[in-house]
Amino acid sequence: MRADVVVLGAGIVGVSIALHLQERGRRVVLVDRRGAGEETSHGNAGLIERASIVPYAFPRELTTLLRYGLNRSTEAHYHLSFLPKIAPWLLRYWRASSPRALAEASRAMLPLIELCVTEHERLMAQAGIAPMLRKTGWIKAFRSQRNLDKALAEAARAKPFGIRYDALDDAAIHAREPHLSDVIVGGIHWLDPATVPDPGGVAKGYARLFVQRGGRFLEGDARSFGVAPGGWAVDTAEGRVSAEIGVVALGPWSDVVFAPLGYRIPLAVKRGYHMHYKASGNAVLNHPVLDTDSGFVLAPMSQGIRLTTGAEFASREAPPTPVQLDRAEPLAREIFPLSERADREPWLGNRPCLPDMRPVIGPAPKHPGLWFAFGHNHHGFTLGPVTGRLVGEMMDGQAPCADPYWFRADRF
Ligand SMILES: Cc1cc2nc3c(=O)[nH]c(=O)nc-3n(C[C@H](O)[C@H](O)[C@H](O)COP(=O)(O)OP(=O)(O)OC[C@H]3O[C@@H](n4cnc5c(N)ncnc54)[C@H](O)[C@@H]3O)c2cc1C
Repeated sequence: MRADVVVLGAGIVGVSIALHLQERGRRVVLVDRRGAGEETSHGNAGLIERASIVPYAFPRELTTLLRYGLNRSTEAHYHLSFLPKIAPWLLRYWRASSPRALAEASRAMLPLIELCVTEHERLMAQAGIAPMLRKTGWIKAFRSQRNLDKALAEAARAKPFGIRYDALDDAAIHAREPHLSDVIVGGIHWLDPATVPDPGGVAKGYARLFVQRGGRFLEGDARSFGVAPGGWAVDTAEGRVSAEIGVVALGPWSDVVFAPLGYRIPLAVKRGYHMHYKASGNAVLNHPVLDTDSGFVLAPMSQGIRLTTGAEFASREAPPTPVQLDRAEPLAREIFPLSERADREPWLGNRPCLPDMRPVIGPAPKHPGLWFAFGHNHHGFTLGPVTGRLVGEMMDGQAPCADPYWFRADRF
């Protein structure tokens, strides 16, 4: 089978790229070892994070570092045996989190963040899943007035970037979320982000649209991908597919292709867990709520209230160790009346992360016809569609919606 482009990976990034390239008139084959949006893009908190204009940096406050170092916090957890392996990466992450470097990363990411909601909205309308888009923002809730005041001072710095929010005192937050307990004393309601009740369903909706428009979505293992006459080829359940252009959008597994081709890109994973709960009685959660002082999110999803955890530093292949979930669950019950667990096992996902908090998007430096699009960190669901747009614009030599300089693969 011959195509113009083969896209490896049908997470939110891969399906969005496939749709954009198809829209531009290319014959595209999308390849994944399983269905669309069934890995990291399935289990996230569903935030399309228009307000996140500063990436998640390595903490620099001594108290936070100490808390993380003791490995007893809810927000972050690490496998002790993995520390020597991840230490050089953490050092790069630390350096990239200096105030100056962080400001640079924020500026680089801003054009993508600014377009995140509109690009999702356009694809959702075309895919017939527009009702999934909830344009009601999310709430950053606080247990301590001191931390709320500090966050409000920081939030004011986002105003010049057009970020809108409501400062919520005790009464205001309970008016918007009547079933939050009195443990919560206030919050910040970010108004610009959108949210979805089923992020995996959104990726599946995009994949369906791609197939309806004549695209082929085939099962195959990206490890069989390699150079072939006239470009690239990969083995699939329906035979070998070759194409002039190959796009690697395998999220946390992208190294299975780039490493054998000789690229040394510092891709690591920050693991995260989720669990669904039924709400007790008639309790309702209207928006996703971040318990800022504890470091987890409660989000109203199709399957129930989804609790998602912060970052775990461990090998991608290590068995699940959901200690953060076990720590977060009683804290979550303090702020919202959760009933029993609705899943048999916690879900485990891998955020694909680069130490400078920017994805790799663009042509592979050493191989003509090979493109990379991975490493979207905490915001891959947010940035999938706009990444598709950027890749399409770059391939066609059009003015790009964001400066590709910041996303080059050879910056490391
Ligand atoms: C707990 C948690 C909460 C999060 N919350 C948010 C949020 O609210 N908002 C947000 O924007 N982001 C969030 N994220 C991050 C976001 O989920 C990711 O950045 C994003 O899903 C990455 O998408 P992707 O398409 O790059 O990777 P994936 O969705 O992981 O897709 C990669 C694809 O590659 C396929 N694949 C892998 N290996 C092979 C192979 N050998 N052969 C063929 N196919 C292969 C996989 O099957 C998969 O379909 C969260 C992440 C976690 C873990």
